Amino acid sequence: MTPIRTIRLPAGEQVPALGMGTWHLGQDPSKRQQELTALRLGLDLGMTLIDTAQLYVGAEDVVREAIAGRRNEVFIVDKVLPNHATRRGTIDACEESLRALVTDRIDLYLLHWRGAVPLEETVEAFEELIETGKIRFWGVSNFDHSDMEDLFQIAEVDPQTDQVLYNLTHRGIEWDLLPWCRSRRIPIMAYSPLDEGTVLEHPALRKVAERHNATPAQIAIAWVLRHPDIITTPKAGTPEHVRENRGALDIQLTSKDLRDLDKVFEPPTQKVPLDVI
Ligand code: NAP
Repeated sequence: MTPIRTIRLPAGEQVPALGMGTWHLGQDPSKRQQELTALRLGLDLGMTLIDTAQLYVGAEDVVREAIAGRRNEVFIVDKVLPNHATRRGTIDACEESLRALVTDRIDLYLLHWRGAVPLEETVEAFEELIETGKIRFWGVSNFDHSDMEDLFQIAEVDPQTDQVLYNLTHRGIEWDLLPWCRSRRIPIMAYSPLDEGTVLEHPALRKVAERHNATPAQIAIAWVLRHPDIITTPKAGTPEHVRENRGALDIQLTSKDLRDLDKVFEPPTQKVPLDVI
């Protein structure tokens, strides 16, 4: 197995390029043990970045159980909802997440999407959370190019990522957001790399998978990870899926693979507003 590849955040922290998502985990008690086994296996395999959010009902609880006794191995990404993202509300939301996770710090705290609260207020709250040690870094999510431009109007901002929808069927960021972030060395964190599982039956993807003796999920993840500066967090609720997804890092897509995929999953030829789920 290839050692896990890491990506450097602007602050210098190295994080695994392949982590684990948690949306929809923790909702069905009959799946609890399987989900815990899946997350723990992912940690064993080096996928030590776990993405969660206060919005994902029950997910922080599963993360808490999965990381019990191994907090120092894990890089936790959590998110504040925009309607909580005032100066005081951000701090309260963070403290709630810390209690849910039973930890003293969140590694990377994101604004889940842009809402009505002025960005300055949320950034001030993030800075206070860093000063008090409750978070280590902050970033944003679902910010389009123009939102990033607005964010950078604030003096001395230092977001560590923009977490956005990016997969074979949603490639709009390649037009502007990705190059913009790249020029500032801000890695994108791609969510829903499998398009929530919907892309997996696509014949073009299956064909490339057959060539590599791999699965469509592995090819879809390898396709996102072909960029040296993109992190991704597929969600897998079973150990089998976690192991399979980890295998994506062993796959090198060829230029023919990429050409064949481009024919069906076309790259953008103009600005496309950022898609969100
Ligand atoms: P995803 O990772 O693209 O797809 C998850 C689906 O794919 C699940 O149904 C999962 O099923 C299935 N799957 C996983 N591995 C598989 C495999 N090897 N073979 C076949 N099926 C497989 O979708 P997502 O959960 O929407 O996105 C990933 C994470 O990104 C989320 O969990 C969340 O942490 C984050 N996210 C963030 C935002 C945001 O606004 N910032 C929005 C959406 C998502 P099983 O559960 O059965 O394994």
